[in-house]
Amino acid sequence: MYKKSEKELINRRIFIGKSLLGVAAITAAGCSGDGGKQEKSTAAPQAKQAGMTVEELKKMVKIDSHTHLNGLKPEEEAPLFATLKEHNMRWFDICTGGMKLDYDKIKLAASMHRKYGPWVNWATCFSLENWGAAEWRQDAIKTMWEGFEAGAVAVKVWKEIGMVLKDPDGTYVMIDDERFDPIFDYIESNGKTLVAHIGEPRNCWLPLEEMTVNNDRLYFKEHPQYHSYLHPEIPHYIKHIEARDRVLDKHPGLRLVGCHLGSLEYDVDELAKRFDKYPNFAVDLAARICHFQVQDRDKVRDFCIRYSDRILYGTDLGAGYKYMKTGIDETIEKINTTYEKDYRYFATDEEMEVWEVDGSFRGLALPKSVLKNMFHDNMLKWYPGITV
Ligand SMILES: [Zn+2]
Repeated sequence: MYKKSEKELINRRIFIGKSLLGVAAITAAGCSGDGGKQEKSTAAPQAKQAGMTVEELKKMVKIDSHTHLNGLKPEEEAPLFATLKEHNMRWFDICTGGMKLDYDKIKLAASMHRKYGPWVNWATCFSLENWGAAEWRQDAIKTMWEGFEAGAVAVKVWKEIGMVLKDPDGTYVMIDDERFDPIFDYIESNGKTLVAHIGEPRNCWLPLEEMTVNNDRLYFKEHPQYHSYLHPEIPHYIKHIEARDRVLDKHPGLRLVGCHLGSLEYDVDELAKRFDKYPNFAVDLAARICHFQVQDRDKVRDFCIRYSDRILYGTDLGAGYKYMKTGIDETIEKINTTYEKDYRYFATDEEMEVWEVDGSFRGLALPKSVLKNMFHDNMLKWYPGITV
């Protein structure tokens, strides 16, 4: 059911094809990664460091590490980038989804990067449509190589691995499947980063009324096909976490950024254990900041300070009708409200309310050095090669 003819796949290529001999040469020459060599986080919480005001944070150059451009119209570019410039917020555009790989998305990311330089860095992905076919691996490597040639600094894998993709015998293919090893070796040897959205929030395995935050409740109500509680055949939550951890074990030199707090959003202690064990592991905050807001405030604050080199600010915001399903005006409104709310949460200790969380909570008032790491410096460390 995933098979496409080779001809069809080749017809959908966006760049001029080059031989795999070229791929081998790039692999050998492009080894510049420092994955696995990150220092272990040892800094003690420094509660009294100076912080930043919302205005200062807004003015600082920042990078949103998790965004999606899809279906952006040429006339929407000017208002979008004017808004991003107002926030001094650059975007890391992540191409997602291999089972129905949309080459238009890859093409858009490459062209936005070419046109806007530091304002749009990007991650590519690869096809799973011909999973199981003899040429699958070489096709995937070719797509990644084409992306690297066009400036991509990372490769994304998505929850479809573990939750949708199956072998012909009906078993789900997990992320630690040995057939992915050459893909991860290729990413590592090119000095690129693996961006991994594997599994789902733990809420996904609970009934709607037991979920801890309102945005998970809404998402799984609207996407029952991904609500694992309704699909007991889907491997359980912990299976995805264990498979991802085995990838970190098997590939200690591969930088891996776990999307959405690495699907360990429900407890900072669980993340801390992995950070201590895997120096090659970091996470982004995309669409999961509310999970910090329902945990103990001081504990979350200490965690952010202690592991400030492992946490990348990100939102899952995007632009273009294919992703946002709305026009540019509503998109801009959403960008403004999301960023304003996040500046307040991370920079101030104000009492806040957001629709994702029932009740109120206090902002984290993080020190300036921590904010600088989370909103900017970590991108340079975890995605070397980005244009700044
Ligand atoms: Zn996303």
